[in-house]
Amino acid sequence: MLIKNATMGDQVCDLRFTARVEAVGRLTPETGEDVLDAAEGEVLPGLHDHHIHLMALARLRQSIDLTGVTNLTMLREALATDPGEGWLRCVNYHESTLGALDRHILDALEPERPVRVQHASGKLWVLNSTAALGTGLDECPLEGVERDDAGQPTGRLFRLDAWLRAQIGSDLPDLVALGRELARHGITSVTDTSYTNTPDSVERLRRGLPQKVFCMGDASLSAGHLKVMLDEDRLPDIEELTAAIAAAHAADRGVAFHCVSHVELVFALTALHAAGEHPRDRIEHAAVVRPEAVPLLVDSGCTVVTQPGFLYARGERYRREVEAADLPYLYPYARLLASGIPVAASSDAPYGPVNPWQVIASAVARRTRDGAVLGATECVSADEALRGYLSDPSDPGGAAREISVGMPADLVLLNAPWRELRQGPLDAAARATYIDGRCVYESSAST
Ligand SMILES: [Zn+2]
Repeated sequence: MLIKNATMGDQVCDLRFTARVEAVGRLTPETGEDVLDAAEGEVLPGLHDHHIHLMALARLRQSIDLTGVTNLTMLREALATDPGEGWLRCVNYHESTLGALDRHILDALEPERPVRVQHASGKLWVLNSTAALGTGLDECPLEGVERDDAGQPTGRLFRLDAWLRAQIGSDLPDLVALGRELARHGITSVTDTSYTNTPDSVERLRRGLPQKVFCMGDASLSAGHLKVMLDEDRLPDIEELTAAIAAAHAADRGVAFHCVSHVELVFALTALHAAGEHPRDRIEHAAVVRPEAVPLLVDSGCTVVTQPGFLYARGERYRREVEAADLPYLYPYARLLASGIPVAASSDAPYGPVNPWQVIASAVARRTRDGAVLGATECVSADEALRGYLSDPSDPGGAAREISVGMPADLVLLNAPWRELRQGPLDAAARATYIDGRCVYESSAST
């Protein structure tokens, strides 16, 4: 394959590749060679999304999305849009619009088909009574099953995804469509950060997607980060956590902490300090970083994997609901970089927008859907935000990968030179995406 007239930084050149990049320079097409004229579009190494949940994203595409469903009448109508039989699966529920859902409220809306509703944070599922019956919820002994005063489960399940999946049995979503969607955005590799990953699920993702898939997960994985979920109102025993961190480090695994509040961040850094650090330790989200936590973060040597896309997608809710004292410290970026902390932007899809150009635009402008700016001093340049997506899977926020002869041909050709697109990253689009030299996406405009 030969791409002619591609912009690479400050030069225009041609790029020949098979599974690897073969040559860069002024090149003449060989007999029978496929040639694409880039028309000075930028060629970049394929983007890497450092924080994504692939199965949840694939399932979202087959679910009822409750974003914009703001009362129970609308919820009843949303449930009725699926005319089939069997499970109704809803995502992106939030109590600020629909109140505290439980099995009784769902029963009134849908008494027959099993319904499960996922909270926008991903940490809560609500089942109706048909679903409770089908899954054996009333007999589930696990912590995380909320119960009423009489001891009956309310239908609300906290962090019980693995149990729920085991009860429902296989309902594998369409990974082929998901692979196409990611390729359309120029994404050639991802890190799946789901704490529920097991050797089986990792294998399924790697088989099902054209992208290169890196995974973190629990202690059942022998490689990849140990993912530690922290919930401020149910924090684990710190000594047990410290021991788990030390065990992961002893197996040369970094640890990735889910931290969305000040308390969670300080708790994680305290446990990490006690266990000792590993160069690949990461803080996921760092949704709130008060000034006093910055020196602790610097000392920890952790990388921050942030999601500026939330400022756009959820910014209006943050403005209503986040404590005023924390609003200036939401999803910090520039301040962390200035302190020498490596930071990489990522999606957290399906909870945040998957489109990397949307995420980068959000890191630059930090605007909510209604145009308000959240934390103006935390804006970064489009180059800085792009660097996160170009950094190596094992080094989020580290040096940007560059195209060189001999590297695997994981590439994205953009619709214009980056020096133009950086003025308005939302205008960026992939014209073609290649993984190991194989075309996994080509826009109709480029054929
Ligand atoms: Zn996540």
